[in-house]
Amino acid sequence: MDEKWQRPRGTQDILPADAARVERLRRLVSSVAALYGYGAIETPVFEQTAVFVDGVGDGTDIVQHERYSFVDSGGVALTLRPEGTAAVARAYVEHGLSAWPKPVRLYYWAPMFRRERPQKGRYRQHQQYGFELYGSPEPSADAEVLLVARRLLERVGLTPQVLVNSIGCDVCRPGYRAALVSYFQERWADLCEDCRRRATENPLRVLDCKQDRDVARGAPDIADFWCAACRAHQDAVMALVADQGLAVVREPSLVRGLDYYYRTVFEVHDPSLGAQSTVLGGGRYDGLTARVGGAPVPAVGFAGGVERLLMAAGSAVAEDPVPRAYVAQVGPGRAAWRVGEMLRDAGIPTEVDLMARSLKAQMKEAGRRAVVVVLAGGQEWEAGRVGLKRLTDGREAEAPLVDLTETVRAWLDEHER
Ligand code: ATP
Ligand code: MG
Repeated sequence: MDEKWQRPRGTQDILPADAARVERLRRLVSSVAALYGYGAIETPVFEQTAVFVDGVGDGTDIVQHERYSFVDSGGVALTLRPEGTAAVARAYVEHGLSAWPKPVRLYYWAPMFRRERPQKGRYRQHQQYGFELYGSPEPSADAEVLLVARRLLERVGLTPQVLVNSIGCDVCRPGYRAALVSYFQERWADLCEDCRRRATENPLRVLDCKQDRDVARGAPDIADFWCAACRAHQDAVMALVADQGLAVVREPSLVRGLDYYYRTVFEVHDPSLGAQSTVLGGGRYDGLTARVGGAPVPAVGFAGGVERLLMAAGSAVAEDPVPRAYVAQVGPGRAAWRVGEMLRDAGIPTEVDLMARSLKAQMKEAGRRAVVVVLAGGQEWEAGRVGLKRLTDGREAEAPLVDLTETVRAWLDEHER
C-alpha cells in the first residue's frame, strides 16, 4: 500500500473488538476511582509549550527529544500533551483548586504524544490513565495511591511487582548528587554517551539508563544520604502499605525520568511485557504547582499506559459479547424494519437486514451475529404475531407482537446465564 495512506508511524487504529476491551478497562478504572473518591478531570490535548518544558523539566527525555511541538498561525507555541501530571497541575492552579477542601482527588484517561522509537508497547500516540492526590504531605497519601494502583491491577487479574524508592528532598539530595558525580567521574569510561552528559546535568538519571546497568548497580545508595524527615516519610509509607498486605520492594536505582518528583517514587512492573515492562509509574511531586504558575502544593500520584495494561491483562479484560436479536423479514413488506426499532425502544440490541437478502441468507447472517431471531412478516404478521427462534439451543415459539419485547428479553437473559 502507498505509504502516504498509512497511519503515521507509532500510532494505532483501534478496531471494534479491541476498542471494546479498551472501553471495559476504562469502566474498570472509573469504578476504582469512584471507590476511592477520585473525580474525573479532562484537560486539552495540547497546552502552551511552557507547561511541559517548565513543568516536566527541559532536561527530560519527553521534553528534549520526544516532544510534538508546533507554532500555530497566531504565533503561539503549543505542545501535544506528552504526560498528564503537568497538565493537571496547570489546571489545578488555573482553577484555584487549592481553595477546595483537602485533599483533592483527581483522575484522568487521555491520549499522550511522544516521538519515541515505536516498539511493542511503545507508541507515539498512546493512552494513559492517571490518579493525582493534592493537598496532603502525609505518607498516608503516598500509601493511598499505591493501594489504588494495586486494586486497579488486581481487578485486571495482575499481581503487581511494586518497586519503591525515595529520591530525597532539597536538604539531602544535593549531598547524594555530589557523591554520584564523583562516582561517575571514576567510571567515565564505562558510561554511554548520553550518560556522560547526564552525569553532570542530572546525575540521578544515569541510574535510569537502560545501557549502564552495571555502573548503576555499583553506585552509592541514596538511602545512606536521606535526611531524617525523608527517611521517616519513606519508612511510614512502607509500613502503611505493608499493613494492607501490599508487598513492595525498595529499588535503590529507581529514580524516574521526570524532574518534578520529590521523595517517593514508584513503578509497577509486569515481567510478561518483556522490554516494555513498566505498567505504571508515579511518585510525590510537591513542587510541581510552583513550576506552572502557582504556590507549591504537596501532591502524589501515578500514571499508567492503557495499551500495556491491556497486553498484560490478556483475557482478564475480554470483549464483553453483547447478546443481540436479529429481525428477519419474511416475504415483502416493512415488518422487520418496524420490529427492529420496537426492540431497540425496549433497550434490546437489535439488527435488521440492510442488504436486501433472501430469508435464507438473513437466517445465515443472524447465525453469525445474534442469539435470538425474530421472524416478522407474512400471514402471521397480519394476525399480529411473530415467530421466534433461539439460535443457541434451537428453541422456537410464536408470540403476539404485544408480548414480543418481553419474550426476547427473557430469551436473551436465559442465554446469558
Ligand atoms: P518507559 O520507561 O517505558 O519509557 P516512562 O517512564 O517514559 O516509561 P511515564 O512517563 O511514567 O513512562 O508514563 C507512564 C506510563 O505510560 C508508563 O509506565 C507506561 O506504562 C506508559 N507509557 C509511557 N510511554 C509510552 C509509550 N510511548 N507508549 C505506550 N505506553 C507508554
Ligand atoms: Mg519513556
